[in-house]
Amino acid sequence: MNYLPLFHNLKGRRVLVIGGGEVALRKVRLLQESGALISIVAKDFCSDLLQMDATDKQKSICHLELIRTAYQQQHIEEYSDAILVIAATNNRELNHSISQQAQDAQILVNVVDDPDFSTVIFPSIVDRSPVQIAISSGGHAPVLARLLRTQLESLLPAGLSKLAALAGKFRQPVKTKFTQGAERKAFWEQVFSGPIAEQVYANNLQQAERLLTDKLDHSSEFKTGEVYLVGGGPGDPDLLTFKALRLMQQADIVLYDRLVSKPVLNLVRRDATRIYVGKTAGDHPVTQDNINQKLVDYALEGNRVVRLKGGDPFIFGRGGEELETLAEHGIPFQVVPGITAASGCASYAGIPLTHRDHAQSVRFIAGHHRSGKLNLNWPELIQPNQTLVFYMGLNGLEAICQQLKDHGLSAETPAALVEKGTSDHQRVFTGNLDTLPDIVRTCGAKAPTLIIVGSVVSLQNKLAWFKATDA
Ligand code: SAH
Repeated sequence: MNYLPLFHNLKGRRVLVIGGGEVALRKVRLLQESGALISIVAKDFCSDLLQMDATDKQKSICHLELIRTAYQQQHIEEYSDAILVIAATNNRELNHSISQQAQDAQILVNVVDDPDFSTVIFPSIVDRSPVQIAISSGGHAPVLARLLRTQLESLLPAGLSKLAALAGKFRQPVKTKFTQGAERKAFWEQVFSGPIAEQVYANNLQQAERLLTDKLDHSSEFKTGEVYLVGGGPGDPDLLTFKALRLMQQADIVLYDRLVSKPVLNLVRRDATRIYVGKTAGDHPVTQDNINQKLVDYALEGNRVVRLKGGDPFIFGRGGEELETLAEHGIPFQVVPGITAASGCASYAGIPLTHRDHAQSVRFIAGHHRSGKLNLNWPELIQPNQTLVFYMGLNGLEAICQQLKDHGLSAETPAALVEKGTSDHQRVFTGNLDTLPDIVRTCGAKAPTLIIVGSVVSLQNKLAWFKATDA
């Protein structure tokens, strides 16, 4: 760590700024917000600084002092009560000697845009006071730091300030009520991630305060756990929803299965207990009943349980069955949709599932064959102008293609198989109903794979954009 981030209380403390131009102005604005006493030494001042000074004087505030003179070393001696010096002149050499003089006087110094001559540097700031986030690239890439700041700005609810202020108000009563740190933590986590926070974000502050008081008075209720059935998407962690990520970061226990990608799993809260309940084809180490029961048991113990599934939990995910058991036990739950394999694979392969010239509808079909027989409604599947997407179809690929042909689809109908879609290992095989099975067999494709059948597949040539790094 090259720099230690500290949050400095500058209220009533003196800061000496050398320079009176736009660069100095930006720092002075920031310092003003922090309540510092600011003395500025410069031969000239830009109009905004003069205006600030005039406004201060009108209001009889004396936080700002303009000293119109050329900088000399004596200024640092004179302002020995300063705890920070900012060198913001347009003369590099002068800035460097100011830096040296400040350091000799044991005063922190920042030379604007010149980290090599600074003992402290300014971060990019996301300000939701009292919550503040400071971002620094250690002087290496200020533009990157600013970009990250913009991203965080859009991520953080504007009402965060109010939420933190509300928490501040209740901090002591909550401390008194819960003497155990773990209990307090659980209480606050529920406040910050549940309906109370949502009320604050919606600016219903009175209602939020009422709910918080209620929650504190009936604290035993918060012991009931909750289950979040979360869609983890097809592989690329960037395809998670904000909500999925938020809940994954709050979970006590995460039950996940085989399709959840490693990069997605890595985003689960580090302290959470991770339990693998995956099934491999033909081998069911953890039965569905067993999973359902585990969810109930963990929730009844008061845990926040995330049931993390590949893709979307309500698409070939047996999510419904798990929720039925929870509902029977009166356990609260939420469902977070995920990007299903059909959307993810089609997008990353460059195959639009619908297209005005090719297909006006799309079908998602379970393509695994129980006891060697595919029981599908073939006459419906061969209707024109539709795209067929087969999940779990790798073993049955040959049979699927054959049946489609037998029921009347042309052998020339374009077809694709997407292996490990959206991941760094994605491979896309294209052909037609006649050729695809051989192509796939020759290349040795492995699960998970998705089959897409229909004339939209012909667009793949033109629209493929995603380059898998490890395919
Ligand atoms: N709930 C999941 C689907 C579960 S069924 C979803 O919405 O995506 C499992 C099948 O999904 C696999 O057999 C495969 O056909 C498909 N699948 C899931 N992830 C995939 C991926 N990254 N690439 C290709 N197919 C995938």
